Amino acid sequence: MSSIRENIEVVRNDIKDICRKQGRDPDKVTLIAVTKTIDEERIREAICSGITDIGENKVQEIMDKYEALKDVSNIHLIGHLQSNKVKYIIDKVKLIHSVDSMKLMDEINRRAIKAGVIANILIQVNVACEDTKFGIEMETVDSHIEYASKLENIRVQGLMTIAPNYEYVEQTRPIFRALRKKFDELSNNQYSNVEMKYLSMGMTNDYKIALEEGSNMIRVGTGIFGKRVYNKN
Ligand SMILES: *Cc1c(COP(=O)(O)O)cnc(C)c1O
Repeated sequence: MSSIRENIEVVRNDIKDICRKQGRDPDKVTLIAVTKTIDEERIREAICSGITDIGENKVQEIMDKYEALKDVSNIHLIGHLQSNKVKYIIDKVKLIHSVDSMKLMDEINRRAIKAGVIANILIQVNVACEDTKFGIEMETVDSHIEYASKLENIRVQGLMTIAPNYEYVEQTRPIFRALRKKFDELSNNQYSNVEMKYLSMGMTNDYKIALEEGSNMIRVGTGIFGKRVYNKN
């Protein structure tokens, strides 16, 4: 089995190769190590191998690991966020990738004001309109962004998507391409509090295609830490 360090090296080399072909700077791509179910020791190993950003999909796991990791890594919330849990993470995360409703935006804004922080968010888009996935539909991205722009303690920094688990990974390409198009369209927007900075797309199976289609933030778990073991308790 390859080590965490070696796995990170492989992903970094892929980022470099793809960026070189496109003539873009590989340092402008953020590699988020997805650390759900991963213990602190292995997360530290990843950090020692150059990881600066970690992603968790559960509020509880962020709270459990926060004290140990807050000084050594940026923490991203990448999983679904329920309104009633916003208060626990509002001052702990660098970026919330999974904002998918106006109601959630309201709560994030309210809690950010209360905590005296600015909340950086991405809008999660369900590009393929899968029933099983969270995220707003492409047609409503503009109205959500317009809504967010009026919330004083929120900064929209981009878009996020999770591609469907297709039989052939190449099938994800049109999904990533469509979101990239939307991202570019919105890059010249006139809204206050909205800056298209991060396009968060690509996971272990599909990050190469996502990068080819213009992603600048990839979220890799299995590809770094190996297969996850879920505790049944
Ligand atoms: C788990 C997860 C990932 C990473 O998935 P891998 O296939 O292990 O790379 C990325 N994004 C989100 C939102 C996740 O929940």
